[in-house]
Amino acid sequence: MCGIVGYTGPREAYPVLIKGLKRLEYRGYDSSGVALLSDGDLNVYKKKGKVAELEESVLGKDLSGTIGIGHTRWATHGEPSDRNAHPHYSQSGRLAMIHNGIIENYAQLKQDLLVKGYSFKSDTDTEVLLNFIEDIRSNNNCSLEEALRIALKRIVGAYCILLISDDDPDTILAARKGSPLVIGIGKGEHFLASDASPIIEYTKEVVYVNDYQIAVVRPDELILKNLGNERETPFITKLDMELAAIEKGGYEHFMLKEIYEQPDTIFDCLRGRLLTQSGQIMMGGIENNLNAFINAPRIIIVACGTSWHAGLVAEYLIEDLCRIPVEVEYASEFRYRNPVINQGDLIIAISQSGETADTLVALESAREKGAFIFGVVNAVGSSIARLSHAGAYTHSGPEIGVASTKAFTGQLAVLMMMALKIGHAKGTLDEARYLRLMNDLATVPEKVKEILQDTANIKRIAEKYKDASDFLFLGRGYNFPVALEGALKLKEISYIHAEGYPAAEMKHGPIALVDEKLPVVFVATRDSYYEKIVSNVQEIKARKGKVICVATMGDEIIPGMADDVMFVPDADEVIAPLLSVVPLQLLSYYAGLAKGYDVDKPRNLAKSVTVE
Ligand code: GLU
Repeated sequence: MCGIVGYTGPREAYPVLIKGLKRLEYRGYDSSGVALLSDGDLNVYKKKGKVAELEESVLGKDLSGTIGIGHTRWATHGEPSDRNAHPHYSQSGRLAMIHNGIIENYAQLKQDLLVKGYSFKSDTDTEVLLNFIEDIRSNNNCSLEEALRIALKRIVGAYCILLISDDDPDTILAARKGSPLVIGIGKGEHFLASDASPIIEYTKEVVYVNDYQIAVVRPDELILKNLGNERETPFITKLDMELAAIEKGGYEHFMLKEIYEQPDTIFDCLRGRLLTQSGQIMMGGIENNLNAFINAPRIIIVACGTSWHAGLVAEYLIEDLCRIPVEVEYASEFRYRNPVINQGDLIIAISQSGETADTLVALESAREKGAFIFGVVNAVGSSIARLSHAGAYTHSGPEIGVASTKAFTGQLAVLMMMALKIGHAKGTLDEARYLRLMNDLATVPEKVKEILQDTANIKRIAEKYKDASDFLFLGRGYNFPVALEGALKLKEISYIHAEGYPAAEMKHGPIALVDEKLPVVFVATRDSYYEKIVSNVQEIKARKGKVICVATMGDEIIPGMADDVMFVPDADEVIAPLLSVVPLQLLSYYAGLAKGYDVDKPRNLAKSVTVE
């Protein structure tokens, strides 16, 4: 949420910043801007709308400068507008700053500054923090770095900030708490960004800045300090990412590319872990803590959004195969409601970005209470990955489409392997079923490929129902969370109101919505609930609802009842969500496309939600 980029070195900064902002645009796109410093002139250019609109608005302007900062915003304080866009100038016009996050005590600080005679050009919390820093600098007659340090000790909230000053021609000051920051180390130059995507083409050596660190960044120098002004050693890591992974590669949208990548990303996730020949599942994070899992009195899964749906699938899996009670929690609720965490309870945190603010803070407080935390994360080196005691990466590669697709199936694949491994070790999953499920899981990449081979039917269905104002998504058992995920995808991408429900639960309310205009999507693959869900289909048909089914290839009953059918290959019900979700991803993609929406940048949304 919100993208930040910075550059200091011998190159012209503007092209580096603009390219970086385009890569980070998935994190926020309601406005963008850059600040460039050249010969003591600090120029800020900013514009409401997408980065392309900023580019157009600066044509003919002075874009010189070998140091600069850039921002693409997801508004929290103040509507998306030119004046609320970042960077912000300080009152004197001598400092410029960008910020990702929320300053929670901004109202009090603003009040104090107003009394002192400051005025504000925007409604943002960011401008308040900037003037607070400037005020400290002038009152204490200290360096900007010192003023920043003092200010950070007095603010409450989350931030990643980059700050430049017209009297320091090559220094970027940066700091973070709760919002991500990566610094790329070049030869005589440094790159700063919210994630590695703007950096990758210049250098693979990066430093992940930690919470409560301040970075003083010059072309030839990177100094890290804590808030006590003590130096800390930068820990340099090598990026394991290729440029191609963050480009569209011929696809019209990242979302479509990422849907089509799933046979490979699921394969990569299983590779080296699911060893069907020897009947072993190799997962270091589980192996090293096997007893903690086997003896856990309870597992609590903490996540948000799509990851929460993966958590629900895991609840079914772990209770079914490992006989351990599981609770699935929305991170935002879990963190504030004084949850009971007992000795031995285990927490599984699921997050694509590994930076989800709600999940991160929930974990911090659970960790303080002594809980063991296992992270299921996609972004390597991210905050949640680092906060966890152990974990498993999903290896899905960078996910840029705002609506999560391949990260979800990566999470499912990891969680399935975990449940198989723990259940087998615990003895709650017998050898024969364990081996059968392993083999079934190993065939998933090929089966997803099969679904993706011909998507014309799904596209047709999406176009047929695109003008519906509401959708219901129904499923039972393992397919219930898939129904929730299908509804979420449709809402995100096509702005059609959609609700997901357990199919049997519809009789207790939602069935009142059914009429000849309401499309009802059933996730009705062949499983132990099949007969029951066929009855639910009949109940909808009897009320003239339009029925769209995800069904197992070869099913002859469903096609006789449904208006439209999307087929998936057969699989054990434990594995089925990995397949049944794919047509629903495509359904929402094609519905959004048919309605003419920007599916990679759905309105009001942003990826990697780093504010609460
Ligand atoms: N709170 C700041 C604003 O509303 C920053 C939001 C962001 O992270 O983009 O401008």
